[in-house]
Amino acid sequence: MVSAVQQATKRAILQWPMIETIAAKQALAWAHTARFLTTASKLAELPATELPEIAFVGRSNAGKSTAINMLAQQKRLAFASKTPGRTQHINLFALGPKDEPDALFADLPGYGYAAVERQAKLRWQQVMADYLELRRSLSGVVLLVDARLGFTPLDRQLLDFVAPRLGTGAVSLLVLLTKADKLSRKDGAAALQAATDTLGEIGTEQADIGVTLFSALSRQGLDDVAQTLYTRCHP
Ligand code: GDP
Repeated sequence: MVSAVQQATKRAILQWPMIETIAAKQALAWAHTARFLTTASKLAELPATELPEIAFVGRSNAGKSTAINMLAQQKRLAFASKTPGRTQHINLFALGPKDEPDALFADLPGYGYAAVERQAKLRWQQVMADYLELRRSLSGVVLLVDARLGFTPLDRQLLDFVAPRLGTGAVSLLVLLTKADKLSRKDGAAALQAATDTLGEIGTEQADIGVTLFSALSRQGLDDVAQTLYTRCHP
């Protein structure tokens, strides 16, 4: 015989995945509203806004455009960033109701092509440092890192730019270990552990830092990422 408490517990457990699914659906429906807003080559050209902004950053080829398109469930949204002349730009996308956007996504320039000349590298550093240190409406950073490579020196430099604001909890950080489908379960777990260890070095009591395996191919991590960003923008 099953007691009432046991039955209630069983019900609660059975309902939990359902609640999760509804929250993920809501978050993905929100992400789907993303549309191109504007593009800028430096911080001063970005519109001032009170809307919470989530910045997507990562090494070139880490899977940033694919992840943004996947989140928004749109084939070409983030590929504006790949058009010649725009690769060094910050591209803004608006989310939420058409007449009343409630958040922005910022797609920041990819970095780390080996052959990038010194001038271009210095310019990139300036744009990134300015944006990450000074953009007032910045609420969260999504850092895309190829799961097979882990953090590169430029990823670490970028984390240094934003570390003071991470430390106070003013800005959150979510690291996506991308292309997880290319790793075995064991290697995926090792990559996750290595990233967690590195992030532990910058963590503080107030910091809001997360890391997850992510794959645009298998959709691994997609629901969680959508929900994390939705919650961040709708506290
Ligand atoms: P970006 O330069 O960071 O914007 O990178 P892209 O989104 O253009 O992706 C770089 C390459 O990685 C492309 O060939 C993508 O098809 C591939 N890629 C991106 N995400 C995944 C993934 O989750 N799994 C696999 N296997 N390949 C991916």
